[in-house]
Amino acid sequence: YPAEYIRNFSIIAHIDHGKSTLADRLLELTGTIDKSATNKQVLDKLKVERERGITVKAQTASMFYDYRGHRYLLNLIDTPGHVDFSYEVSRSLAACQGTLLLVDASQGIQAQTVANFYLAFGEDLTILPVLNKIDLPGADPAKVKTQLQSAFDMDPDQVLAISAKSNLNVDQVLPLVIEHIPPPTNTVQQPLKALLFDSWYDSYVGVVCLIRVVDGIVRKGDTIVSNHSKRKYDIAEVGIMYPEPTPTTSLQAGQVGYITCNMKTVSEAHVGDTFYRLKQPVDPLPGFVPAKSMVFSGIFPVDSAEFARLDESIEKLTLNDASVSMQKETSNALGQGWRLGFLGTLHMDVFRQRLEEEYDARVIITQPTVPYRVVYANGDSKTVRTPAEFPEYHEMASTVSETQEPMVSATMIFPQEYLGAMMDLCSQHRSGEQEHTFIDESRVMMTCKLPMAEIVDDFYTQLKSRSSGYASFDYEECGYIPSDLVKLNVNINRRPVDALSVIVHRSQVEFVGRSIAQKLKKVIKRQLFEVAVQVVAGSRVVARETISATRKDVTAKCYGGDVTRKMKLLHKQKEGKKRMRMIGNVEIPQEAFLAVIKK
Ligand code: GDP
Ligand code: MG
Repeated sequence: YPAEYIRNFSIIAHIDHGKSTLADRLLELTGTIDKSATNKQVLDKLKVERERGITVKAQTASMFYDYRGHRYLLNLIDTPGHVDFSYEVSRSLAACQGTLLLVDASQGIQAQTVANFYLAFGEDLTILPVLNKIDLPGADPAKVKTQLQSAFDMDPDQVLAISAKSNLNVDQVLPLVIEHIPPPTNTVQQPLKALLFDSWYDSYVGVVCLIRVVDGIVRKGDTIVSNHSKRKYDIAEVGIMYPEPTPTTSLQAGQVGYITCNMKTVSEAHVGDTFYRLKQPVDPLPGFVPAKSMVFSGIFPVDSAEFARLDESIEKLTLNDASVSMQKETSNALGQGWRLGFLGTLHMDVFRQRLEEEYDARVIITQPTVPYRVVYANGDSKTVRTPAEFPEYHEMASTVSETQEPMVSATMIFPQEYLGAMMDLCSQHRSGEQEHTFIDESRVMMTCKLPMAEIVDDFYTQLKSRSSGYASFDYEECGYIPSDLVKLNVNINRRPVDALSVIVHRSQVEFVGRSIAQKLKKVIKRQLFEVAVQVVAGSRVVARETISATRKDVTAKCYGGDVTRKMKLLHKQKEGKKRMRMIGNVEIPQEAFLAVIKK
């Protein structure tokens, strides 16, 4: 396929601005998919994606389009819309020459519009602004064009306005792509150089790799080498996503498509890797910054008998999501489990939902922890991913010189009447200096630095509720600062329960301590003896609650005689105990571990 008739492009947008709808329209218009109702949002393939309306994994689709006497091959690379998945966005952008920046004409520029614009701008892509949803009564295209001009210096006369839903002006989108986005450079004669930008595991064909062929050509039967591992692979199949994998005879410079080869697991498919032909090594492509875990959580089976089955399920799920890091963990309270690292809390929640729905697993997830850093007096330092790894009180005094926490630089966009509420919200979450500018006469863009630990919990929910849903938010990590951190431990009748420990800033010790003690008091049932719940920082008790004793005798109501009824009741009581964890002689219900995390 001549490179001059190929275009590789993506659509970037804030969540819900209509990316998936537009992608569907373009696939319909080019006859790649049928116009049937069952095909809604074909690029959103996972069940969680359809349910939550978010794209988690970037998807790619090719289409053919006749324009001015030529047949063009257009490769559309979908991008996820949520902050947690922004590393997926940069992967997709590396496979294109240009992008459509889609903005909802009734909502205007939002925080992820800004973040995505800068990602594309940094990649030197051609950026074509498109206003969507102009059919809505609340649409104000003129105002949003002004925002595009003041925020990104774009020419208001160059902005296409469409409705992906009603198909208005959608026919102008592909001509715009063909005329303004440059074709990939034609280097078919060069030795093969291909960028691996995504991969997944398919139970029939094994690992499928999405590649962008930068130079040369690749065919079925070729032997290629991974620059990263120097391993050799024989290509079993090459093809394009049309939108399902469709075999072709070759993929050549400028094309985007898939290959299958004798790869066993997705961990071999190192995203950002360069493939070259055997005995024809090339200079590797720049690659990517690897996905970094921002939050770590312990995951344990609700019923410890399900450990082996859960182990298998987690393994399968991580095969398809290389951005989840995993290591085994043992807790004195919850037994054997795993410490998993996620890109953010939404990513964590999506993972949990997939485990429960696709693998029918029941799990306990402990309080998420960000990666803290501990610097020792002797100059050593380590990253702490779980409260258990954090030094105990006596070590803090004797061997630790400094503790540090990761920061993010946050961007928020909202109507000006919420400025006060948003400033308060950030201050309450230990923000640094806040700065704000107006992007039009009524909308404010605010930026500030926040501790990452402050945004993993309920920050996003509070942002939405305090702005009546109007504020949008995005962030990127921006390094570590020294921070006075304290580990809070929980003792139940003097026994420490490691799975309930948390790391907090010193200013929050009393508040968090009290709230943990109160929540535990609510969920732990009264026992035959008094139970003391203590939250301690070192040897200092920061909060204490007492659960008074009760005499629970399930047989009290059977007046002696009826033996079978008595047996039945005793058996029932035993069953009930299965859902409890014994900490010393205290029964702790599963809910206790969950209750502590839910604010
Ligand atoms: P994404 O998150 O950017 O992929 O957005 P979706 O394509 O999932 O669209 C979000 C919502 O906006 C859906 O309910 C769509 O039906 C709706 N939507 C998309 N385009 C339009 C449009 O042009 N007009 C109207 N009125 N609604 C639209
Ligand atoms: Mg979508």
